[in-house]
Amino acid sequence: MSREREQLSRREWFRYAGVFAGGAMVAHAAGTPVWAQAQAAADPMDERRAQMGAAPIQTTRLGPNLVMLSGPGGNVAALHGPDGVVIVDTFVKPAWAGLKQALDGLGGGPLKLAIDTHWHFDHADNNERVREAGAATLAHENTRTRLTQSHDLLGMKIKPASAASLPTQTFRDSHTVYANGETLQLAYVKPAHTDTDIAVMFASANVLHMGDLYFNGMYPFIDATTGGQINGMIESADTALALVDAQTKIIPGHGPLGDKASLGKYRDVLVTVRDRVQKLKSGGQSLEQVVAAKPTKDLDEVWGKGFMQPDFFVTIVYGTL
Ligand SMILES: [Zn+2]
Repeated sequence: MSREREQLSRREWFRYAGVFAGGAMVAHAAGTPVWAQAQAAADPMDERRAQMGAAPIQTTRLGPNLVMLSGPGGNVAALHGPDGVVIVDTFVKPAWAGLKQALDGLGGGPLKLAIDTHWHFDHADNNERVREAGAATLAHENTRTRLTQSHDLLGMKIKPASAASLPTQTFRDSHTVYANGETLQLAYVKPAHTDTDIAVMFASANVLHMGDLYFNGMYPFIDATTGGQINGMIESADTALALVDAQTKIIPGHGPLGDKASLGKYRDVLVTVRDRVQKLKSGGQSLEQVVAAKPTKDLDEVWGKGFMQPDFFVTIVYGTL
């Protein structure tokens, strides 16, 4: 990313950070003591955690020994059996007790391993709790690196993670885990949602966990502050589409369980938006002009109702092209 583009995207991040400052302002109005006001205003991340963590956990069975858990953060896959429990992603910190209860209820013995699809807190937030439970944590090496850094993301000041939160095992290109009669194929993809993303294929169950490479039924968030870019998102969707068949169950980072057909629609929307924005940008239009042109207008009714507001999505796409 050029320096100019980096500065542009940082400016835009701050413009939209107001979305997340809203909760802190409510606390001020409610008569919070002055010392606590400063604390609340300084930590919108904890507000996000509390907000996400309040969602109930829903369980969807995907196979004889594999379930998807949804609600407080990115969707979690849990494989259970005689070798113990293996999970992909970990929800946010306030959801740990609920997650542990759900995992214990699977009857698969102790938690053995948690795999992070990428570094974001709504996926890797409970790494330390996983370690305390006696299990290992596994992720791409860039996830470990990103967790050691400070980040300014969507108005959240993210501090370096504790030593116990860092993955105990990392890999670079691909990695295989054998557990409970299942083969988990982990593959790093080029920078897409971040520069830390992996996809996890449960080969026997024919289930693919894509983490935040896939937001089912909505525009995806793309974290340009840690290497994310629209073309990588499209490439990773194309790679996944070539890998799966019509029966494959596809777990998105956010949204309901998907399949090849729903992933294909999502991929087509990403390509359509990318092409429209690229055309306008190549024609010399500024970010403000492109956002004002509403290039996603006909898609927003369906795809703009999720986490990502249409203008913000267009801003990110523009900034990463
Ligand atoms: Zn994410």
